[in-house]
Amino acid sequence: MTSLLDQLAARIRSDGPISLADYMADCLLHPEHGYYTRQQPFGTTGDFTTAPEISQMFGELIGLSLAQSWLDQGAPKVFTLAELGPGRGTLMADLLRATRAVPGFHTALRLHLIEASPSLRRTQAETLQGYEVTWADSIEALPQQPLFLVANEFFDALPIRQFVRDGDGWRERCVGLAEGALCFGLGPAAPQPALEHRLADTKSDDLVELCPASPPITASLAQRIAQHGGAALIIDYGDWRSLGDTLQALKSHAPVDPLLVPGTADLTAHVDFEVLCSVATGAGCSHSRVTPQGVFLERLGITERARALANRLEGAALDSLVAAHRRLTHPDEMGNLFKVLGITPATTSLPPGLIS
Ligand code: SAH
Repeated sequence: MTSLLDQLAARIRSDGPISLADYMADCLLHPEHGYYTRQQPFGTTGDFTTAPEISQMFGELIGLSLAQSWLDQGAPKVFTLAELGPGRGTLMADLLRATRAVPGFHTALRLHLIEASPSLRRTQAETLQGYEVTWADSIEALPQQPLFLVANEFFDALPIRQFVRDGDGWRERCVGLAEGALCFGLGPAAPQPALEHRLADTKSDDLVELCPASPPITASLAQRIAQHGGAALIIDYGDWRSLGDTLQALKSHAPVDPLLVPGTADLTAHVDFEVLCSVATGAGCSHSRVTPQGVFLERLGITERARALANRLEGAALDSLVAAHRRLTHPDEMGNLFKVLGITPATTSLPPGLIS
């Protein structure tokens, strides 16, 4: 079997250097060798740990926020409950358990998961045994009805392109070959219409990132929500407006060279929340402030929830609950780096935990 490195090298030899987005797309979702296609990357034994894998409290509170938003919008009798990139299905399992007590919510929901990896779809089916799940490849495939959606660490896994400013043009950072090894290089300087607005706040040699898949995905979820009602909670690491190289490769919880062994490390980049907000507004929705995860979870009562769980625990289990609470909320851990964005129809209130 040819390795992904060999395949990429052959492609570069024949067609020339490829964009970082093409490289990331193959590394993450190549049908045979892709990182998400091949393995189970999450958890303490995997390469990285996400918020729902740290504690059940994360999915529970997201669930209660979405359920309250469903109530605030008149409790539509049938709606889509969807998740983008559900990983092992842990967040959804916690969300569903926590919302069981909300009258009518479970009868009204139709569960849809948008997942590209066949092996992760199988894991999600196991985690969500007992629920009726429909998998989809895209938001367009979801039914035309109110949409309540969550996406945790989905947008950071979408391939990015990188550009280095050169005068009033931009040179794209590409992946090429030098002495048989993958290496970064820069393409020729050219104008980039999508980066026109960045000429005002950057200087020569600054690097900016573009995530080509993020605007169309945000537009389709926002259009559904504007038309039929609903809400989206998008949680990810990143900030307002991209500046600098944020590409990161993680293997066994440690940073590695992103070009070294393609397909074996998780590749992510910071999410540019400004783009998500302007696309949501353009589609007729309102959006919340980009809110630090720690603030969002505190507003939803994570400390009270932790106290309630702590009453039943002692020893190592109690220590691990205390550590999980800190990890999710503390500004030195995930509390500040991770942000939450809420998107709703322009006429309705935001989900609890968020303000405009
Ligand atoms: N939300 C989960 C997993 C985050 S990892 C958690 O918090 O634990 C990113 C997830 O998005 C994985 O399930 C991955 O397979 C999926 N994914 C990545 N790119 C995708 C795409 N283009 N379409 C659908 N799913 C994708």
